[in-house]
Amino acid sequence: MLTLDTDIIKINRVGKIMASRLKKLGVETARDLLFYFPFRYDDFTKLTPINKLQADVSANVIGQIELIQNKRSWKKKMYITEALINDGANKLKVIWFNQPFIANNLHSGDKVSLAGKVEYEYNCLLMVSPMYEKIDRGQAIHTQGLVPNYYLTANITQKQIRFLIKQIINLTEQLVDWLPAEIKSEFKMLNLQQAIAQIHFPKNNSDIILSRQRLAFDELFLIQLQSQITKVELDKSLATPINFYEKETKDFVDNLPFKLTNAQRLSAWDIIKDIGKSKPMARLLEGEVGSGKTLVACIAMLNVALAGKQAVLMAPTEILASQHYNTLCQLFSRFNLKIGLITRSQKQIFNFPPKKTNDFPQIFNKNKIKNQDIINNSNIIIGTHALIQEKIKFKNLAMAIIDEQHRFGVEQRAALLSRTKTSQNKLMPHLLSMTATPIPRSLAMALYGDLDLSIINELPKNRKKIITQVVPEAKRLKVYEFIKEQINQGRQAFVICPLIDLSDKLGVKSVEEEYLKLDKTIFPDIAIGRLHGRLKFAEKEKIMRDFLDNKIKILVSTSVVEVGVDAPNAAIIMIEGADHFGLAQIHQFRGRVGRSNWQSYCFLFTDSQVNKTLERLAALVKHANGFDLAKIDLKLRGPGEVYGTIQKGFPELKIASLFDYILMKQARDQAIKLINQDPTLSIWPKLKEKLHETGKIVHPE
Ligand code: ADP
Ligand code: MG
Repeated sequence: MLTLDTDIIKINRVGKIMASRLKKLGVETARDLLFYFPFRYDDFTKLTPINKLQADVSANVIGQIELIQNKRSWKKKMYITEALINDGANKLKVIWFNQPFIANNLHSGDKVSLAGKVEYEYNCLLMVSPMYEKIDRGQAIHTQGLVPNYYLTANITQKQIRFLIKQIINLTEQLVDWLPAEIKSEFKMLNLQQAIAQIHFPKNNSDIILSRQRLAFDELFLIQLQSQITKVELDKSLATPINFYEKETKDFVDNLPFKLTNAQRLSAWDIIKDIGKSKPMARLLEGEVGSGKTLVACIAMLNVALAGKQAVLMAPTEILASQHYNTLCQLFSRFNLKIGLITRSQKQIFNFPPKKTNDFPQIFNKNKIKNQDIINNSNIIIGTHALIQEKIKFKNLAMAIIDEQHRFGVEQRAALLSRTKTSQNKLMPHLLSMTATPIPRSLAMALYGDLDLSIINELPKNRKKIITQVVPEAKRLKVYEFIKEQINQGRQAFVICPLIDLSDKLGVKSVEEEYLKLDKTIFPDIAIGRLHGRLKFAEKEKIMRDFLDNKIKILVSTSVVEVGVDAPNAAIIMIEGADHFGLAQIHQFRGRVGRSNWQSYCFLFTDSQVNKTLERLAALVKHANGFDLAKIDLKLRGPGEVYGTIQKGFPELKIASLFDYILMKQARDQAIKLINQDPTLSIWPKLKEKLHETGKIVHPE
């Protein structure tokens, strides 16, 4: 018998291949399938009799096939399938192009439901390439009513997934509804069983709205509840208080080649105050790309290190980690500190200040040392998630910093913190998360109720607005000319290429092609490098270094340069196939330039002629603020796509939106109410069980 936990492969018509494709979507059991929600619906709610059809209007027609046959058009060399449908009173001609198999699927006598556009041609109405479905057995699910559409990749069709879900939809009856009854009645919410059934097969719009409300509330409520619990725990736990080394900090700041911005100063002070307490800090540092978050983190780490404790900084990519490593080695070279680097392919330790500035970084015993040795011997440890993949123990950890926190999954962050818990002293580290993801204060508060927030809302004074243009293909050569001039003046440029297709996951093809073109024909005299995911680490690292050292003038790259990397001398970023990226992502790319006092430029190229796309890209010309752009993206592309990229690493929201303030507030209020009533949640055993299943979070972000 089927249950919610039944392996997907036991479901009728799921073979090995289908099962592995479903697995790619994260679907392994019947339950997973039920919780794979549609992102939109086709509206085929109105069944039209054939004699009421109108040209240029989409319609749903039911009838019997009187005749069906394939023809071959000799002119265009393609197949045309023609059919005649009878709805009992009238007849309608239907044609499909280049899908000859349809004549094998449908036969005269079959009852079918068709959905598609009606056109007026050759003096009569006909339906062109409609979706079709046999309805001899039961009700139509693909062509009638509100038809769900799912995000699919990996060779699964909408029809297949609907068919599978339809088969098991009755399993919803086995679901345990864990939401306390008092909450359901207060907000007049659907039962879970009903909500799941209706999200897949709604009868009308209000079904959709109600089931979304319930399911979105569930997601937000669980997050809020988890964060309230963490808050209660955190209030009880202890951390090492770090004294403020005022003189040294001032000395450090005074020796920087620039003045801190006011916002940097205030954020740093927030952190200094927090870590001075014996209660663990839990703070989110949010600031636009290029606003100088690293420096704020450095001030905190310096104080931790001077206090004789350890700080760890975790970055999402190796390039970024090693850039941080180099930055810190340089910045802290006057202090007697050891800085360690641990990534999958690199282990280094910066061993005391170099004698001259140009012989840094000194690397000792490269690649021979164990991670644990680096940790034992460093004041500050920088790394990627390689840091958490081995059984390592921190000796004396007082502070953990997560850079670009939105790039990490909840589990990775949790893992870092659980490692830190095994340290000898059993104290919690102070935690600082940094992000450039533009979320407004009110939202961040609602989302991370247990986190304190510092926002760097200004860029360093020397920054000029980046001039952004959507460039028509005809002007491409002009842009190349311009790049040449800029390079002659000493600047550098990025060229970003999108992935061409999914099989090209690393963007190798597009980068290599573009690189060859630029290197051989456009800029034969200029040093050009390329960067993509398939290069070996050492190679990537060398190219990035050469670029940072101004040996390479133009860097052709995939989105690997998206996060964090800092190349102050780069003044131009050219983005190919810009329509393949989200606005927020392009904004991140754009943040790679304009980091010093040169005027910088961002040139966007696209093949797309679609107005909506051009309108979307035009927003980048107008807006320089990441949050505005995220909002515009949301409006133009819909939440699914925008949050697919933005939301990575946020608590995973399948259905709720980060901008759903009201629901978020309701969820938060209810969570607080419950925790106040019974912090152990024993009154609500089903809820407790549910939280146990989902709750991988051991510490706030
Ligand atoms: P992000 O906030 O995106 O992580 P970074 O910390 O990488 O930004 O800083 C971007 C660049 O700005 C770096 O080159 C850094 O040295 C420089 N920078 C940081 N603070 C200031 C400042 N107050 N004035 C001028 N430049 C600064
Ligand atoms: Mg950064």
